[in-house]
Amino acid sequence: MTCEMCGVQGVTKVTLIEGSQLNVCKTCAKYGTAKPIERERRETVRIEYELVPNFIEEIKSAREKSGFSQSQFAQQLGEKESTYQKWELGTLYPSIPVARKIERRLGLKLVQPLSQEDIVLTSTNSEEPTLADMVKIKTRK
Ligand SMILES: [Zn+2]
Repeated sequence: MTCEMCGVQGVTKVTLIEGSQLNVCKTCAKYGTAKPIERERRETVRIEYELVPNFIEEIKSAREKSGFSQSQFAQQLGEKESTYQKWELGTLYPSIPVARKIERRLGLKLVQPLSQEDIVLTSTNSEEPTLADMVKIKTRK
């Protein structure tokens, strides 16, 4: 993908920068707030989760299909209307546990493991994953 800030080609990540959701490279991502990430211990490798890139579209279309207003939909999810509005605007993201709750309620896919490259990068600060672990990660899907 192409970084929407500097135009570099490579791995990009949806990042919240000054209120807008942009697909940017790792360097530019430092200027913004990355989506919340939850660490989970699984086997010997640390797997991290993030919201799906089309999170906003997912919740919006689920709401539109259900015919609820933002305020009614927020109520359904047990959230404040103002909070819910920010999710649709992309100025705020729900935490991973909240996103999982929404997933269950709405039958949507909102949380995904971080890309393999990220998993490899982030797991190096603790135990090095073994070759066998890497194979497990690669065949997980
Ligand atoms: Zn960039």
